[in-house]
Amino acid sequence: MTARSRPISALTIAGSDSGGGAGIQADLKTFAAHRVHGLSAIAALTAQHTRGVTAVNVPDVGFLRAQIDACFDDFDIGAVKLGMLANAAVIEAVADALEHYRPAHVVLDPVMVSTSGARLLETSALDALRTRLIPLATLITPNLPEAELLLGQPIADLDAMHEAIARLRELGAHAVLLKGGHLPADGDVVDLFADADGGIEAIAHPRLQLEAHGTGCTLASAVAANLCLGRDLGASCAAAADYVHAALQRGYRPGNSDILVLDHF
Ligand code: PLP
Repeated sequence: MTARSRPISALTIAGSDSGGGAGIQADLKTFAAHRVHGLSAIAALTAQHTRGVTAVNVPDVGFLRAQIDACFDDFDIGAVKLGMLANAAVIEAVADALEHYRPAHVVLDPVMVSTSGARLLETSALDALRTRLIPLATLITPNLPEAELLLGQPIADLDAMHEAIARLRELGAHAVLLKGGHLPADGDVVDLFADADGGIEAIAHPRLQLEAHGTGCTLASAVAANLCLGRDLGASCAAAADYVHAALQRGYRPGNSDILVLDHF
């Protein structure tokens, strides 16, 4: 890329992790590792380290909209990644902005609870997530606990994952990357990619016995980066899953706990 060319940018609308492992910080590292210019609109601030979240602050939604407007006013945005959105008012503001700007791709990671157990989305916001954002997303990337909360039903095996995809489609989801990492299994981790036409493909990786933080944020932003690079949705999901697996294998422990942070470079 020359200094004169105008590259496609990826925009993350998500929460900040002061510990640098998840959220906006993981998203921007992922975009940079893919050599995609990264933009950010910060929807929530967390005071956080590898052991947990100690405080959350949600800025005024007018200021969030100002950040989003500033990005769309100047950059050529190829994909938007949505992460921690905290509450219904934030979700409504983001949905209004997406309806206004209609970006080519929206990757929605329906962040609800952190690995450390902190609530990152108010329960009262689930309805807004279902009705306003899911229909606007090109792809949603729930893990099993998130899909269970969205659907109100347990997902205990691979058959139940297939059924959950059908129910998520009924909610208005176009394509789904349902992450199977929470299934109790010794073998591979199996994620299911369901495209907008009804096809389903399994994406399998050997399970790494590692406790890490920020994998969900990284996966969704790697999908967005690959979409910016011109890959189709299926290829973007497969490349993103490979990216997370490799970054996890190189993971390191920057904090005073056993929790790994992904190595993006
Ligand atoms: N903190 C922020 C700001 C996030 O956006 C997210 C994830 O999406 C998390 C924490 C949770 O990350 P993890 O569940 O990997 O700990």
